[in-house]
Amino acid sequence: MNYKEYITVVEDWPKQGVKFKDITTLMDNGAAYKTAVDEIVTYASEKNIDLVVGPEARGFIVGCPVAYALEIGFAPVRKEGKLPREVIKVNYGLEYGENVLTIHKDAIKPGQRVLITDDLLATGGTIEATIKLVEQLGGIVVGCAFLIELTYLDGREKLQGYDILTLMEY
Ligand code: IMP
Repeated sequence: MNYKEYITVVEDWPKQGVKFKDITTLMDNGAAYKTAVDEIVTYASEKNIDLVVGPEARGFIVGCPVAYALEIGFAPVRKEGKLPREVIKVNYGLEYGENVLTIHKDAIKPGQRVLITDDLLATGGTIEATIKLVEQLGGIVVGCAFLIELTYLDGREKLQGYDILTLMEY
């Protein structure tokens, strides 16, 4: 499938000069959304995973249907103050300032094989932080799956040693 047909590129959003890749038009199309999810399910099922982990909010859109299809759990990674029980945190740099991501302390059991999902790999900062959370809890990151990769931002450099699947590149 040519997934790019279903992505809307929005010029100058959220700020001047950015070409935002809007995945909502892919999600809107049942066949395109299902085909994309199925491709990630096939990838994941070869890796014998125990759990899917994804950062809010678009990591849920990709990861939850994969977890459902494989009949395994999904653990959300969220911004600080959103999860109700004891969490561990990681700080990571953004273009301007810092962000904090959290996960429930009991979300992953040591030795569990984890697939991380998000909509888009840009600089890799979000996924690098998510990997740190998973590994701090003793999880093994066996793969990272994205709909989109912005290859010119070299996110893969940060993720060396991890297996990565992306369905389309810009
Ligand atoms: P990174 O941390 O630089 O790799 O940025 C990836 C994160 O930013 C992901 O969680 C994406 O949801 C979000 N993001 C960055 N650019 C875009 C875009 O063009 N479309 C959708 N999400 C984006």
